[in-house]
Amino acid sequence: MDEAGGDGLVLIGGSWREPATGETLPVENPSTGAWFARIARGTRPDIDDAVAAARAALDGAWGRLAATDRGRLLDRLGRLVAANADALARLEARDVGKPLAQARADVAACARYCEYYGGAADKVHGTTIPYQPGYTVVCLREPHGVTGHIIPWNYPLQIIGRSVCAALAMGNAVVLKPGEHASLTALAIGRLACEAGFPPGALNIVPGLGEEAGAALAAHPGIDHLSFTGSRAVGIQVQTAAARTITPVTLELGGKSPQILFADADLEAALPFLVNAAVQNAGQTCSAGSRLLVEASIHDRVVAAVAARIAAVTVGPAETDPAVGPLITAAEAARVRGVVARARADGLTVAAEARLAADLPAAGHYVAPVLLTEVPSNHQVAQQEIFGPVLSVIRFADGNEDAAVALANGTDYGLVAGVWTRDGGRQLRLARAVRAGQVFVNTYGAGGGVELPFGGVKQSGYGREKGFEALYGFSVVKTIALRH
Ligand code: NAD
Repeated sequence: MDEAGGDGLVLIGGSWREPATGETLPVENPSTGAWFARIARGTRPDIDDAVAAARAALDGAWGRLAATDRGRLLDRLGRLVAANADALARLEARDVGKPLAQARADVAACARYCEYYGGAADKVHGTTIPYQPGYTVVCLREPHGVTGHIIPWNYPLQIIGRSVCAALAMGNAVVLKPGEHASLTALAIGRLACEAGFPPGALNIVPGLGEEAGAALAAHPGIDHLSFTGSRAVGIQVQTAAARTITPVTLELGGKSPQILFADADLEAALPFLVNAAVQNAGQTCSAGSRLLVEASIHDRVVAAVAARIAAVTVGPAETDPAVGPLITAAEAARVRGVVARARADGLTVAAEARLAADLPAAGHYVAPVLLTEVPSNHQVAQQEIFGPVLSVIRFADGNEDAAVALANGTDYGLVAGVWTRDGGRQLRLARAVRAGQVFVNTYGAGGGVELPFGGVKQSGYGREKGFEALYGFSVVKTIALRH
């Protein structure tokens, strides 16, 4: 596999070629600030060609493949991903600034998605309906056709796995627009897909800027379904553009996910999760557990224990495999520092801040993880997605489940929630009362959960990816009624 991975090309109809602009965009290593590769600046003409190539694939070899054979191709892709795990992880670490251990976990998840959806491709059976006498009614699950996938930079390999692989398993032909800050592993997956033997046009990849390639894909009349993963603000633009062509959309947006900690919880077991949920990938995780809601009687003890852990978090270049790497860009790092500065100015307590070593690369985008306490639930750090390593603690009155639920549900978002308690009844009451797409009890994240349907409610979006639900999302029911 090519080390840098980006060579300024787009993948359309099985061929690698220059984008219509003939232009490229530079790729930065967030750990050092050094530019090390270039990606294509794809624009509308490339998207037009990619959509046409996808359509031709559906009308050609890809569309004629048996479901079992689609599954075999995905399985082969997964094995190629696994065989190239080290190179892919190093590339991701360099491109995203992601600590190597997390990058390796992402590669393993991508391979597992290929395996999972490869195995599932021929197991979506549709249904029959016992209609009136003299009828046989069958409901087929058919692919949408050409699916567009606009993905962010924070977990490219995982999101390709859960979105692109699920769409391919159902027989769709894909046009993928990766995030402009991290397209290299997406392009590497494209190369591996060619090697695996996917027919030309089944998977097309057009890197480029959001307002150019992304906007062209969102508005394209030849797209039959759009999967958007990214920010709420861009999600609104994508949904608006897609509305003009009545294109169905899946929106996987941001979150402000609560972790609710009761006094009867196993605190020692919870602690590593509580901290990791906030600082994993430098807090640049849609499902980051960025609000810690703590029962009053254990508040001070929890704050002390979490503060000790936050203060001890190692921050460094991705390749040195610290707990926390840099943020994706200088602008993002400045934005997150600004949020923390405003919180200080508003009088919020900074209970802990990790130390940034003096020898960190000066042009890297490092932000020290921070623990904020006594955060008013209506303060912006408790309401808005920060997308940086900032954990806010909010207390609730002893035994007051309703107050905990009200806090948990008191933001515009509803992606994930964590509930920590030994009380079985409380576990179920809280899990039912919290408005979120996923609720974890006495754990958080469950190790990624390829098999577990994932997605939001409220302004975290709608539609589900991961698990079997993704296969339903990337297909459409056709009802056939036969009178006999
Ligand atoms: P972003 O919304 O800025 O960009 C996401 C993608 O949209 C990129 O490929 C970008 O190029 C493209 N884009 C930008 N403007 C566009 C436009 N006008 N039309 C079409 N496409 C456009 O998000 P980001 O900064 O890359 O990622 C961070 C956000 O993603 C966070 O809010 C995070 O919570 C969210 N996210 C959500 C999930 C989830 O599954 N719910 C997963 C990962 C990230």
